[in-house]
Amino acid sequence: MKSNGAPPSIPHPNREQALKRARLTAGFPNIVNGKRIDSLKSITISDPVTGEELARVSETQKDGLDRAVEAANAAFPAWSSKTWNERRDLLRNAMEELKAHTDELCTILTAENGRPYSMAQWEITWIFETYVPSLLQMELPDSTWNEPGVGQITKRYVPLGVVAAISPWNLPFLLSFTKVLPSLLAGNTVVLKPAVFTPLTVLRASDYIREMLPPGVLNVISGGDDLGPWMTSHPDFQKVSFTGSSETGCKVFASAAPTLKHLTLELGGNDSGIVLPDADPQAIAEYLFRSMFALSGQGCVTLKRLFVHESIYQALTEALISCAQHQKLGDGFDPETTLGPIQNRPQFARMQTTWKEIQEEKAPILYQGEVPSEGAGMFFPVTLLDNPPAEAAYVIRENFGPLRAVFKYKDLDEAVRLANGTPYGLGASVWGTDPESLDAVARRLDAGMVWINQHLNLHPNIPFSGHKNSGIGIEFGEDGLKAFCNVQVIADRG
Ligand code: NAD
Repeated sequence: MKSNGAPPSIPHPNREQALKRARLTAGFPNIVNGKRIDSLKSITISDPVTGEELARVSETQKDGLDRAVEAANAAFPAWSSKTWNERRDLLRNAMEELKAHTDELCTILTAENGRPYSMAQWEITWIFETYVPSLLQMELPDSTWNEPGVGQITKRYVPLGVVAAISPWNLPFLLSFTKVLPSLLAGNTVVLKPAVFTPLTVLRASDYIREMLPPGVLNVISGGDDLGPWMTSHPDFQKVSFTGSSETGCKVFASAAPTLKHLTLELGGNDSGIVLPDADPQAIAEYLFRSMFALSGQGCVTLKRLFVHESIYQALTEALISCAQHQKLGDGFDPETTLGPIQNRPQFARMQTTWKEIQEEKAPILYQGEVPSEGAGMFFPVTLLDNPPAEAAYVIRENFGPLRAVFKYKDLDEAVRLANGTPYGLGASVWGTDPESLDAVARRLDAGMVWINQHLNLHPNIPFSGHKNSGIGIEFGEDGLKAFCNVQVIADRG
């Protein structure tokens, strides 16, 4: 087992100044009906690097949820009656306003999520620079045709009503606004619940734009573990747009069934990558490493299981180890930090349980780095497993942390079978040089998003969906926008 350099200083001296810029003391109220509302009960949001309290947010109760849904219901007729262009212009202006606060939002996101500031910048600017321009170009115009025997047909995409948006802690800003914006553009009104562990960036952002949209169009409420289930069973929501774990997704499905809500469930992943014998290890190692360890491995479509042909296994694993040795775990406010901590205690506990299992089963370790020794941060070392049993429980489950498995394969059919051999089907990738072989393998991978010579490269124009336990429904692209609409047909006999 090899290790990397000296432990970094935690907390970093930059932190104090940065947190002042984040204006944490300005508060993080709910936004309901265009107003800032604090509930009587509150929840402490902790800093994953220092363990200290960052801020307190509302622990919204059932009556608070009811008020938010009532506001969204009341706002729906006027909002849905606006033209597409009117809604688009209001959303564009709101996002332009938010853009002016990029540094503050990135600072809050770094603080609550624990990742390097540069990765917070990536998440937030991706929304402003990539997502918003693509989304706001989309339209869903009526289509008309003459159907013999029926008459003049007009097919329309009409809004659903009030949408419940529920997002996870790992990409809290991105995965909130990729629900809110298409939903609002299509004419729905929204009640958004950010994750229990990371609500701050989303609450601050919503506060900045609360007067730029009509009251009640976007309501944002924070809460504890009860709030999600209250939302998914609330009779006045027409749709739940949910991103989170597969386990919770099943509960959301069951809870939404009695009121027959529309559902989009973007759930967990255990992405595989297959490296063909004609791949160049040196050329792909760094990209592969980033695809595996981005966000300290806390990404739904990070590459979690890598299958490498035996002829290049040694060269590629050596190159991956070299990348791992250059990582610095630490405080996100330290400009040298490349990877942050595990974001929350339950997730840290899951990683520790997995690690215990790996040790008990004596799985071979290719590399394990070090963790900072100071502070209360929940750091898990960068770890690469060396050809462990591909069907071990600790491989098959989703490892949401910087722990990845590399496998040596001889027979491509067996590699494809093992790559597909988990309950998940979110992303997958294949790496090599021969276009025909790459395409042939890509078509055999059972995942909603299959990349060739890349991974983790999502784009708002490209539909994204999970197979198997990774989800139901589609986000992004025109298909994702349509998922916030009902189809209405008017058949005119004349
Ligand atoms: P989670 O399922 O624990 O929580 C997700 C959200 O649901 C949170 O806001 C949470 O408060 C809420 N929630 C919890 N229980 C609920 C219930 N019974 N009913 C309704 N809402 C409930 O997931 P997490 O730990 O926040 O996020 C990590 C998981 O999300 C991973 O499995 C990851 O793969 C997945 N994820 C998927 C995608 C994707 O696009 N497919 C993207 C990011 C994360």
